[in-house]
Amino acid sequence: MPSKLPPTLCSTIIRRLYASKVASQPTPKASSTSTSTSTSTSTSNLEIATKQQLYMLDAHSPGSVFFLPYGTRIFNKLVKFMKLQQDKQNFTEVITPLMYKKDLWETSGHWENYKEDMFKVESNDVSKLGEDEQNTVYGLKPMNCPGHCLVFDRFTRSHNELPLRLSDWSSLHRNEASGALTGLTRVRRFHQDDGHIFCTAQQVKEEMTKCLKLIRLVYSAFGFDKYKWLLSTRPNHFIGEKKEWDQAESELASALNESVGEGKWEINEGDGAFYGPKIDVKLTDNFGKEHQVATIQLDFQLPQRFKLEYQSDTGSLETPIMIHRAIFGSVERFLAMLIDHYNGKWPFWLSPRQAVIIPVNSSHNEHAEKVKEILSNSAADDEYENLNKFTDYKFFVDIDSRTETVGFRTKDAISKGYNFIILVGEKEIKNGNLAIRSRENRKIENLTTEEVLEKFKSLEDTYK
Ligand SMILES: [Zn+2]
Repeated sequence: MPSKLPPTLCSTIIRRLYASKVASQPTPKASSTSTSTSTSTSTSNLEIATKQQLYMLDAHSPGSVFFLPYGTRIFNKLVKFMKLQQDKQNFTEVITPLMYKKDLWETSGHWENYKEDMFKVESNDVSKLGEDEQNTVYGLKPMNCPGHCLVFDRFTRSHNELPLRLSDWSSLHRNEASGALTGLTRVRRFHQDDGHIFCTAQQVKEEMTKCLKLIRLVYSAFGFDKYKWLLSTRPNHFIGEKKEWDQAESELASALNESVGEGKWEINEGDGAFYGPKIDVKLTDNFGKEHQVATIQLDFQLPQRFKLEYQSDTGSLETPIMIHRAIFGSVERFLAMLIDHYNGKWPFWLSPRQAVIIPVNSSHNEHAEKVKEILSNSAADDEYENLNKFTDYKFFVDIDSRTETVGFRTKDAISKGYNFIILVGEKEIKNGNLAIRSRENRKIENLTTEEVLEKFKSLEDTYK
């Protein structure tokens, strides 16, 4: 759509597009494979993603995923889900820059240890740069940690503020080799449910335990019960003192013993990050395939490198300890795993296509529109005189009013993955009911619109 259209005209066109009477999706051009161009991915994952139009890749930006509307719905739900869980653990969200001058990466140690995995950014017109920028290059961030150190360092910190838990959903870029790029799993741009906890030595164990608890809680919501806990130890290239590493490794081991149990975790020799040891979680999906997901890293180095300080209860200045943690890990990779795990059959709460309304014939279309308005909590067609509510239940409901038979449209809805199919005909309108069936079960229930709404709310509230 041309960007020069006035906003009102854009709105009208968008509204017309979405008011289309057919619950269909655009057909990809024959010349394009909508999901993959220069890259490859597993067949079933690719088939599902293509059929459901979740994402695409394009040679103009290898390794960076374009989330299509249906994929964006799932992505946003994952983010919303995790933000809610993080709120409960008192994380506070920040939004930080994507590119930083090289000297920040020198301070953090990335320029020395991680440079090959980073993208460099340079200006095409140096005359626009300030004097202090003339001879510098910028690095596109592969991690949020150094930025969060700057946030910590900006204020005088007291022990009363610790633990300080920062979360960030920024895009991250890493320079993966082009031959290694694969679908959603090996990418150059990705997002993490990234969080950094700045705490005292006494707080480490409790924070680690909370992280381990959150991992279990989150994975149970997705029905994952098979996973492996790994303690990744000091790699060949590392920063800091060996004795600090030993201390950090023993802290992690003790948290694992307490939360997971002795003998129920494994050592992954030499696979720690260059700044600290870590606990990694590997999930096994329904097909027995292992995926690296959560990571918790204990770091004594970065706070020292950034000279971070807080005032202790005795008034002395101390260096905080930093915990890096992500529960999904990369949202892109987690989504790839979920596609396999659910085999494309999304649970209602996560589904990008929650229900479709099928009016038996065109005389029932108006009623179908009213039902949709209630279930999707969409504003009535009032030419935008009212705002949509800021917070409320809002379900993804389409209408399929094509002239095909009800049987054909039902079959089509099931193949597209709608969780519920709602029939509206003469009988339903007369009785004030909707005939609703699920994707899996042919049994039809007769419920009022309010009862359907309650059913949907209850499914969403319980992550079903
Ligand atoms: Zn980090």
